[in-house]
Amino acid sequence: MSLLEVRNLKTQFDTDEGTVRAVDGVSFDVDRGEVVCLVGESGSGKTVACESLTKLSVPPGRIAGGSVLFDGADLTELSASRLRDVRGGRIAHVFQNPQGSLDPVYTVGEQIIEAIRLHRDDSKAEARERAIDLLDRVGIPEPGTRVDDYPHEFSGGMRQRAVIAMALAPDPDLLVADEPTTALDVTIQASVLRLLRELVEEFDLGVLFVTHDLGVVAEIADRVVVMYAGKVMERGGVHAVFDDPAHPYTRALLRCLPGRGEAMETIGGTLPPATDPPDGCRFHERCPHAVGDCRTGEQPAFHPVDNGHEASCVYYGDEYDEGELDAPAEVAEGRSDD
Ligand code: SF4
Repeated sequence: MSLLEVRNLKTQFDTDEGTVRAVDGVSFDVDRGEVVCLVGESGSGKTVACESLTKLSVPPGRIAGGSVLFDGADLTELSASRLRDVRGGRIAHVFQNPQGSLDPVYTVGEQIIEAIRLHRDDSKAEARERAIDLLDRVGIPEPGTRVDDYPHEFSGGMRQRAVIAMALAPDPDLLVADEPTTALDVTIQASVLRLLRELVEEFDLGVLFVTHDLGVVAEIADRVVVMYAGKVMERGGVHAVFDDPAHPYTRALLRCLPGRGEAMETIGGTLPPATDPPDGCRFHERCPHAVGDCRTGEQPAFHPVDNGHEASCVYYGDEYDEGELDAPAEVAEGRSDD
């Protein structure tokens, strides 16, 4: 059993325009000691999927189906108070903007100490020692002195490290990191990614990492889950997905990356409306390979690509030849009215 097993999770929001199916039947696992990256364009549902694990974004939304098994217990069935214990305890969240996670009127140390004492029986002195140790582990220089600094006395990179220290304070098993390096410059981003990798090894943490940046995925992920319009399109080991992407959406995303040996492209078209997603494959309106079967029924089933690597695309089923996905775009588009 994995540390986290998300199965067929559905999260919906009611709006004046209709019901938004932000997450619509998503499944993935996270094991201890690994980093799983949820990737996709803005609006693909990856942040809502993460926040749904501990119902951070619910209300105003609701879990409309599925389960979130964490160490064997279904989090969707826990009471609000038990869920609060899990959130910030065994499951910690790190967000994009460290400013929003740190209170400017308290020192960094006071905030880490509070996080420690919320979930552990440490005395104030013990918690202060632990706070200094955590600051040291996340690479803050002179942690014994800097523990008494206010957030504004830290640089942006140090603030994000302090937020990670605060998240680690209660000894979590799972860290959910939503675009934690997006606001940082490239050098600091690289050092925070290195730090997270080290912490995974040191604490045997499971990490669920949300990003739209495939360059970051290549740096940190063990496994990748590609989301589009509230659905998972492809999942597998990072090398399998990057070296041999199966799903046309993943292929298009990777072609947008610089340095892939071909001209960078943008993906034509836009995400379908989350209140009225199309039948069939959610990607079919933008897919040059779409055939009649892609436009009706449900999202195609997951088909194996190779070991542990799966794609939700009809071309990997028995009736189609996946080799045809390698056809040039003009050929594929000529076929698209099948
Ligand atoms: S070929 Fe069909 S099923 Fe596969 S990605 Fe394109 S539209 Fe979706």
